[in-house]
Amino acid sequence: MTRQMFRERECNHRDEGAEGDFYNGAFYIQALQRLRVDQAVQVSGKVSSFFWADAPHILVWLCDDCAAELRLNDTPRAVTQASRRQA
Ligand SMILES: [Zn+2]
Repeated sequence: MTRQMFRERECNHRDEGAEGDFYNGAFYIQALQRLRVDQAVQVSGKVSSFFWADAPHILVWLCDDCAAELRLNDTPRAVTQASRRQA
């Protein structure tokens, strides 16, 4: 798995200096699907879009607020540490 295989997306709060983490794209999609449709649309509107089929190869950076909206804070496995990106 080369570095180029991974693509990164991020929520629009990263530019504002918010704290956050990288999350596995597949978990991000799962989390979106758990939300009501209107919530999912709202959250996904803050993150640059990608094809869902590519999710396993996508790292999504989310600030703590966006992660909380997706309830990804309850899913520690979803967090992808930089040092484990190529694992
Ligand atoms: Zn955010």
